[in-house]
Amino acid sequence: MKLTIGYLYPDLFDLYGDRGNVRCLYKRLQWRGIGAEVVPFLSGSKIDFSAVDILCWGGGSDRSQELAAGYLREIRRDFREYVEADGVVLAVCAAFQLLGEYYKTESGMVEGLGILDIRTRWEPGRLVGNVVLESPLFRAPVVGFENHAGRTCIGNHTPLGKVLFGHGNTGQDGCEGVVYRNVIGTYLHGPLLPKNPEVCDFLLERALKRKYGGNIALEELGDLWENRAKSRILERYGGRPEFGPGEKRKVPEFGPGEKRKVQEFVSGEKHEAQEFVSGEKHGAQGFVSGEKHGTQGFRLGKKRGMREPGPGKKRKNKPGKRNEGRGTEERMKKGLEKRGLNGNNMERR
Ligand code: GLN
Repeated sequence: MKLTIGYLYPDLFDLYGDRGNVRCLYKRLQWRGIGAEVVPFLSGSKIDFSAVDILCWGGGSDRSQELAAGYLREIRRDFREYVEADGVVLAVCAAFQLLGEYYKTESGMVEGLGILDIRTRWEPGRLVGNVVLESPLFRAPVVGFENHAGRTCIGNHTPLGKVLFGHGNTGQDGCEGVVYRNVIGTYLHGPLLPKNPEVCDFLLERALKRKYGGNIALEELGDLWENRAKSRILERYGGRPEFGPGEKRKVPEFGPGEKRKVQEFVSGEKHEAQEFVSGEKHGAQGFVSGEKHGTQGFRLGKKRGMREPGPGKKRKNKPGKRNEGRGTEERMKKGLEKRGLNGNNMERR
């Protein structure tokens, strides 16, 4: 088995280490003994979509988007056919925007591929910071970093997830990203895939299934360090909505004696944006999109007593609090031991 990873326009789109997504896909195939090849398509080059199994497309500036518009026009038809034939795509930020109809900037309009019925509009005030989201596609929360001026309205499309922390597509509706067939569009940099190996494996599985058919079950890799890093992020920003209607959000302790004050974000409030994917009501949307709290409601700030530690200072975390109750670390360790691995030799695999 072998997958070809196409890397679209790396000369224009590679913000915030988005190429790490390509490396991650490649590495996780290699670690499993599955063939992998990366083919970068520089802007203007011919693309044979039939030879591509996964297409990675990264973030870029408004200027990069303008420069790419002409090239995109040339590949639009083939790109659309690839998507409709269940080709796998990861499109981050600027790329996510360009899957849609247009990106209306301050000074003009960048034409998109029009593959998805989504529209992006520039607005003053960038949406910047860490993001935690919950997606029905993944067991663990997805974490990343966003930095965009565009607000993307995904219309009737399905979002990748609902925002638990951060801004998401518009900073208003509590939605993040989009999922269509085997396409994931998202504002999450990070890069996304090394931070969320589950998302990486999801794309790999989809691509292998499309190419080779049948039920592909990827070998577990343990992901000890990846999950530790993720736990750390969740510890800081909260992550799993372990709450139901009427319950309070459970938030990990921050430093000694310091608790995140989130009492005001009690779920169970009715809100327009609560309809989510399954049609299920999620009270938690309230803290992201509610007029009452505004989009700033759940951001780091003085008011919540949860500032980032200052330069040279470390945040003190309570030992044993990471991923509490989920047994993730234990499971990962067991997985590694089973296969004669430990955290120290993971790197060399
Ligand atoms: N230019 C777009 C915006 O600011 C995309 C930015 C990005 O890819 N990070 O909205």
